[in-house]
Amino acid sequence: MQLPTYAFFNDQVLLYSDARVGVLTHALNYGTGVFGGIRGYWNSDEQQLFIFRPFDHYKRFLESAKLLWMTLPYTREDLVDATVELIQLEQLRTDCYIRPLAFYSDEVIGVRLHDLTPAVSIVAIPFGRYIEKEEGVHVAVSSWTRIDDNIIPARGKIIGGYVNSALARTDAHRSGFDEAILLNQDGHVSEGSVENVFLVRRGKVFTPPISDNILEGITRESVIVLLHDELGMEVVERHIDRSELYLAEEIFLVGTGIQVAAVTRIDHRQVGTGEMGSLTKNLRELFFNVVRGRVAKYVHWCHAVYA
Ligand code: PMP
Repeated sequence: MQLPTYAFFNDQVLLYSDARVGVLTHALNYGTGVFGGIRGYWNSDEQQLFIFRPFDHYKRFLESAKLLWMTLPYTREDLVDATVELIQLEQLRTDCYIRPLAFYSDEVIGVRLHDLTPAVSIVAIPFGRYIEKEEGVHVAVSSWTRIDDNIIPARGKIIGGYVNSALARTDAHRSGFDEAILLNQDGHVSEGSVENVFLVRRGKVFTPPISDNILEGITRESVIVLLHDELGMEVVERHIDRSELYLAEEIFLVGTGIQVAAVTRIDHRQVGTGEMGSLTKNLRELFFNVVRGRVAKYVHWCHAVYA
């Protein structure tokens, strides 16, 4: 992976090589931090880079911080401005990924969330696909259970919580799958390791509700609007059973990393025809036009970097 040249770190822009922490850093020892993941899309016709829904991403970022008793000295607007400046400095004119991080930076021993000092960093790097086979993902239902709201709230992007995702993803990978879907403690479908899940059955689209221990995904929210308003689909948010995944006509995963990806096999069972379904295909096409700022109705989701 190509490293960034610069990093926004504690109110200033430094060389990335100078943005360093010590090994005793609280968040490094105890997972006490939160992060974000945002994409920028290059539009070559307009010679413009569009950041996808940065205000909504930073809203969730600040909410995740709140869950960890972290008060950050920034508004969403400050963080968007810092991100734009950083990308301009990096002179990124290609698809990219933005990684904001807020973490307890004290070099102290002691598990807690009080009497600690948060630090904030942002970096941006060129970025293509997160998963190679976006058109045909083979997913495993994981034997790991999704972290519950009373364990580590999944609705926040809390660093420590991602060990749950990493266990599921690596076990799926080592068993020959591309990705994992986790069930929650009630046995209902929650989400992928870093994606929200949708399925199509009998002409309707279903996705787990936000109270089923999922991250409140911004792609999920965007896709619900596009499915309903542009593709005329009814989207139902309700508990989903594992066996509904096995009977689905189409399944797709959505998230900043994976974008919109077709699941064509699950636990060695073929999904629908075993090829990407027509709704997933139409949604992907629409989604990629929207994120590149090519659909007038949704340009308000796209934040231009260059004047
Ligand atoms: N679920 C989890 C666990 C994730 O980490 C992500 C990626 N941020 C998502 C869902 C998708 O969220 P978003 O669309 O906001 O990227």
